[in-house]
Amino acid sequence: MANKSNYEYLLSDLTKLNGVGIKTTNLLKRKKINNIFDLLWKLPKSYTDRTLSTKIKDLRIGENQTITIIPKKYLFPRVRNLPNRVSCFDESGEIDCIFFNSYEGYVRKILPLGKEITVSGKIGFYRNKYQLTNPKYVSEDSSLIKQKHNTYSLTEGISEKIYNKIINQIINNLPILKEWHSKNILDKFDNINWNEAIIELHKSENIGKYQDNFYQRLAFDEIFSTFLVNSEIRKKIKKIKKKSKSLDIKKQINLINKLEFSLTNDQKKTLEEINQDLSSSNKMFRLLQGDVGSGKTIVSLIAAYNTVNSGFQVALMAPTEILARQHYNFAKKLFSKEINIELISGKSDYKTKKIILNKLDNNNIDIIFGTHAIFQKKVNFKNLGLIIIDEQHKFGVNQRKRLSDKGGKNCDVLLMTATPIPRTLTMTMYGDMDLSIIREKPKSRKPIKTYSKLESKINDVIKFIKKEIQLGNQIFWVCPLIEESKKIDHSSAVKKFEYLNKLFPNQVSLLHGKTDIEDKEIILDDFLKKKFKILVSTTIIEVGIDFPNANVIIIENANKFGLSQLHQLRGRVGRGNKDSACILMFKSNLSDNAKKRINILKESNDGFYISEEDMKIRGFGDILGFKQSGIKNFKLADPIHNNDLFLLAEKEIKRIENNSEDIGRFKPLIKLYDRADVINDIA
Ligand code: ADP
Ligand code: MG
Repeated sequence: MANKSNYEYLLSDLTKLNGVGIKTTNLLKRKKINNIFDLLWKLPKSYTDRTLSTKIKDLRIGENQTITIIPKKYLFPRVRNLPNRVSCFDESGEIDCIFFNSYEGYVRKILPLGKEITVSGKIGFYRNKYQLTNPKYVSEDSSLIKQKHNTYSLTEGISEKIYNKIINQIINNLPILKEWHSKNILDKFDNINWNEAIIELHKSENIGKYQDNFYQRLAFDEIFSTFLVNSEIRKKIKKIKKKSKSLDIKKQINLINKLEFSLTNDQKKTLEEINQDLSSSNKMFRLLQGDVGSGKTIVSLIAAYNTVNSGFQVALMAPTEILARQHYNFAKKLFSKEINIELISGKSDYKTKKIILNKLDNNNIDIIFGTHAIFQKKVNFKNLGLIIIDEQHKFGVNQRKRLSDKGGKNCDVLLMTATPIPRTLTMTMYGDMDLSIIREKPKSRKPIKTYSKLESKINDVIKFIKKEIQLGNQIFWVCPLIEESKKIDHSSAVKKFEYLNKLFPNQVSLLHGKTDIEDKEIILDDFLKKKFKILVSTTIIEVGIDFPNANVIIIENANKFGLSQLHQLRGRVGRGNKDSACILMFKSNLSDNAKKRINILKESNDGFYISEEDMKIRGFGDILGFKQSGIKNFKLADPIHNNDLFLLAEKEIKRIENNSEDIGRFKPLIKLYDRADVINDIA
């Protein structure tokens, strides 16, 4: 039995439960239920009410009912395959209980002659008699039957009865955990403690009561524990003392004056935030978040320049070679010969690589550009002062922390993401970092005109792009990505390519899931060099690459995408100073709801706003495939409906941080809710 105040019971193996053996354990493990705590979130979906009993004469055929009966006679057939039968009665009539594939001994045991037994199940009628086949709810103790029995979404091989039994067992043995929340927080949830809340959560009559105090408290616990871990990582990283960087602001001003454009206010503001961090004696761990095309690169390059001028090296990491090269080329123009920059590429031969590695080690390179290959073991820096990572929204908390550790103690970290996401999600996913946001787009940028078109009107679209091509412009043509079948995706892209190639001979190229990385880079490079006019592709066009000459994007089967995804795709164009257009194509007329969504996109070019609206309509799990991105999925909390709880958690964390409160009392909470590796460092 559990030590009543010990949370460890909840983390113990499922086999600790009575009646749960290896078989059930393995079945549950397949559902990612690995310990007792995981089972707490297996909630009833509905229930069967077996509380009311009737007399036999009042039974309704085909319904689940409860009766108390007396077994009168066993009818055990001599022939195999025939069922065992027990004839039973009450003062109003008779009923047969039928058992297929059963042992006589078992039947005798559960239905002893002459005793009052309560049974419950679906009532049948056969040869003029009521009958109950293979009754599962049978007991001399009627109180065990006359209950509300919860139904669960079942795991193969585990019956409803077993679930009820296991979960009741857990509920009855819940350790009584010492309260971790402050009084002020508890007040908001009518002072319900964790224990009571869990018990309420599992009651049949509470199914769907998301607004009740027990549910809200437990949802808050989830959010709060995530935020608390984030806060601890942040504190830990901030505590690391580093050599501060002395910035040469004169040089920075000269560089900015050299630009063809002036920085937006948000670019200036975020640069200032980064500069503050660079020149402080605490390590920077900062996220630069800004919509596609908001101009994050230049901000990061100025920060890199400042870092170099204070005597450190910088590494800039991009997700692909082509993007790394684009940043490198941009930097080469920007810095001319003033500082030493180098591109390390998977394609460079062994000798070239070796030279680069040597130069890095000898401090002869100021800024190195490349993919994640920069962080291979062999690469040593003489004096790394800043790591910049572009488009990294697929990194999890742990990976980020590891990266920060790897850079060494003098190394600041700046991450950039072009994925505007709702604020509640930003807090959840990036709460371990400081945040700089660019909301404003460069003034020169013209809004992308967005249209919708039925596929049957494809000729209008062709006419339109013909005109654009005559003007010297380039076109992206995105084919639908239908997840059910990669083959279909592929063939539909190929077909579209062939169709367009007939209309525009030698001006079309194709990129799809099967194109290998090297070919892909060549194709994208050729497109950049305007060697062809139309690029047909599935959705794999790289985030972040600047194709200033491409100004039209056609997205087929647009209802396959969420708004945020459409917005990101649309962001591939409109990066130069031409008028640009996005044409969303649909197979059939749009429903009212779909129209509403598409209108949001047509009317706004603000990724943050669009993502909020998208989340309201589709739920947060669907936004940009976050389900697969490794962020933890909340069991109860919901960033849409529990916005207030997210804000409350944020406020409470700030209060705890400001008062430098000891977080020891949260240890059980963190251990239970957040079993990430980072915790071992903290709790
Ligand atoms: P993202 O934030 O998506 O990474 P980029 O940094 O690639 O955006 O910038 C997109 C384009 O806008 C680049 O060609 C860049 O040179 C240009 N740009 C950046 N800042 C400004 C600005 N303030 N005014 C005009 N153009 C800018
Ligand atoms: Mg970018």
